[in-house]
Amino acid sequence: MDMERGEGSYLFDTEGRRYVDFCAGIATCCLGHANPVVVEALCTQARKLMHCSNLYGIPGQEKLAKLIVEDIIGIPGRVFFSNSGAESNDGIIKVARRFGHRHPAADGSPRYEVITFNKSFHGRTLGSMAATGQTKIQLEFDPLLVGFKYVDFNDIDALRAAVSPVTCGIMLEAIQGEGGVNPVKPEFLRAAAELCKEHDLLMMIDEVQCGFCRCGAHMGWQAVCPEVQPDLVSCAKGIGGGFPMGCFWVSDRAIDDAGTPLSSIMNPGSHGSTFGGTPLATAVSAAVVQELLKQDLAARARKLGEHIKATVEGWNIPCVAGVRGLGLLRGVGFDKTKFRHPLPEGTTPAAHVNNLCREAGLLACPAGPDTLRLIPALNIPEEVLEEGLNILHGVLEEA
Ligand SMILES: *Cc1c(COP(=O)(O)O)cnc(C)c1O
Repeated sequence: MDMERGEGSYLFDTEGRRYVDFCAGIATCCLGHANPVVVEALCTQARKLMHCSNLYGIPGQEKLAKLIVEDIIGIPGRVFFSNSGAESNDGIIKVARRFGHRHPAADGSPRYEVITFNKSFHGRTLGSMAATGQTKIQLEFDPLLVGFKYVDFNDIDALRAAVSPVTCGIMLEAIQGEGGVNPVKPEFLRAAAELCKEHDLLMMIDEVQCGFCRCGAHMGWQAVCPEVQPDLVSCAKGIGGGFPMGCFWVSDRAIDDAGTPLSSIMNPGSHGSTFGGTPLATAVSAAVVQELLKQDLAARARKLGEHIKATVEGWNIPCVAGVRGLGLLRGVGFDKTKFRHPLPEGTTPAAHVNNLCREAGLLACPAGPDTLRLIPALNIPEEVLEEGLNILHGVLEEA
């Protein structure tokens, strides 16, 4: 099955077969395929200026950064533009390392350790792969970048015990996407933020998958616990609506009595990217972000997400072990002992159901062995959502 064309929440393969798309480029094509507003922004900007160097000012960067700071994150800060989620995470790890130099341990040695979580996913560069708490991602790429410690997600005692004199940050996804759609518990997020205050650590949130309205708020953490104030936020996927784009945000909060803003510890020359934040990428991304806000797609994600959960749980199918997640980042859990037919040798429940769905004309996405991820475009028409859910229902009844 090779994909050729997309239209809203449908994809068409080279043989002309139509699929309902509940994958959306893995939570990336948040406005569906070939969205006219996004296409128009792309074409208009491509005719004007695609790329120049960041040796010059790029007005599109300033406009987009203002949108992200004021309308999405809502906390004063600065934005650095990258091209992907992994790069954005490498960026926030670099900020944490520099912070650890400026605010060393009691003996004067730099702090460098970042606590991350089992089943997390932060990307595939050497830095973001080392931050990822899954050995299968790291297999045979060792020795890994040093300075990461992995702890069980949502385990407050384990997190507290993991803080050491060289810890400089705690990094987490508000909802673990690849790891199985596991939302952070509000009390855990609050406890992590408290620990950061107590030990002078940076609170680092990976919003690559759960950000930009997907989870029913502008950012995933805001859907869980809006009063928490992160220091660093990494973004990609939905921010570009399908165009390669990423960024990280650094808070302006004072890190010492002199009032030095955290964001000032990175300056021109300390980090860079040739393609990060080109006029083309920022024009497309600004169009995407404005559309997300104008249509209030966070509220829509919340509503449709509740509908998915109620519908799937209402089917009462034995192999379904509940629906997790928030907004339109949903995971259908499976109990592998309760399938009607034996699973094919060597396959996981999630991969098996995903294959059956695809054959029946629905694209979804596994998240770990036991969870099927449903991550459609945030503007999916209600009748297309229904069509996809009906296909899923048929598949699960039969499975
Ligand atoms: C996809 C993802 C990444 C990696 O993003 P890339 O753009 O593929 O580098 C990082 N973190 C999370 C939470 C992701 O879902």
